Amino acid sequence: MDSKVNFVPVTSNLNWDEYFMLQAMMASFKSKDPNTKVGCVFVDDNNHQLSMGYNGQIAGIDESQLPWGNDKTAPLDQQKYAYVVHSEANAILHAKASLDGSRCYVTLFPCHECAKLLATVKIKEVIYLSDKYSSTVENQISKRILDMSNIKYRELTLRKDIVQDLCDHFQSVIP
Ligand SMILES: [Zn+2]
Repeated sequence: MDSKVNFVPVTSNLNWDEYFMLQAMMASFKSKDPNTKVGCVFVDDNNHQLSMGYNGQIAGIDESQLPWGNDKTAPLDQQKYAYVVHSEANAILHAKASLDGSRCYVTLFPCHECAKLLATVKIKEVIYLSDKYSSTVENQISKRILDMSNIKYRELTLRKDIVQDLCDHFQSVIP
């Protein structure tokens, strides 16, 4: 008997980097921040997802009382920066297992406050989409922290047609 009946060649539409960055992008889509939506996902060596997060207001408090505006000339207590929890911090806070040795896929290069957290939980790599604040001193501090902690970091460039492919797929699964 021919054991190869009904076999068809198949490939995945996504490699692991693309798969997890799209998950981080999906998490960012959930953020209410009108200006900067960031998402991340932590992954272990078996390519299993450990935790996800996006930037949001403090869990469990009445966020209608807190500002989302990014005007840095306003008093600090009237700025979002005083209250927002970053995506990496949220993912770390909500992780159910150790993140030691994990990779972090994140849509925006981590700020120096998150770099402290990433180093403390001992992740091994950051994969990011954008590093738009690379000229700032805070960004240099972040890289210093990652370098001193032997955490690798690399930019991921998504192929141009991936969003259209995903859009076509989504359209095909919507009844
Ligand atoms: Zn941060």
